[in-house]
Amino acid sequence: MTMVEERGGLSRDSHSGAIPRADAEAIIRRHQQTAPVDILAIARDMGVAVYTDRLGPEVSGLIRRDQSDEAGPSGYLILVNQDHPFNRKRFTVAHEIAHFMLHCGGPLHGNGGGPLHEIRDDQFYRALSGPLEREANELAAEILMPWHLIDQLQGRGITDLHELARTLRVSRQALAIRLGIPYDQDWSS
Ligand SMILES: [Zn+2]
Repeated sequence: MTMVEERGGLSRDSHSGAIPRADAEAIIRRHQQTAPVDILAIARDMGVAVYTDRLGPEVSGLIRRDQSDEAGPSGYLILVNQDHPFNRKRFTVAHEIAHFMLHCGGPLHGNGGGPLHEIRDDQFYRALSGPLEREANELAAEILMPWHLIDQLQGRGITDLHELARTLRVSRQALAIRLGIPYDQDWSS
């Protein structure tokens, strides 16, 4: 969507999202006032429908443009692996929202109606293969773990990693990555 570029200020201009960046950021801010961030409300307000589905062990989730009534008003829907832990499903939704904001409207995927993107386990939370994945993970972390909320919680005495992660409804590993703390344990615990 050229509308995104016209609004200016985007550094990620080699590709573009399906929603004007300023609109998306306003929606996100609205749902970042208290922890945990309401990721489903963010998706709803962006017009993206979210479903859990049986996606197989390799796939965390996907976002795709869809012509059916199942898509939200934006024309996109997100499928999340129903078998994954709760916090991981939240991160997957945020990751797909990030793709929606950054990548879905541009020429990378086209508007052909087919699947736009899939995340596979081996690309998730690791040193990621492509810049698009890295961007999506970084934005997902910004959405679910905004610094102002982390500061607010720490100001209330919630400083323990476990407790902070539980309050934000994110995995300890995701939070550790955000905070720049080494963390070796299985992130899904
Ligand atoms: Zn991705």
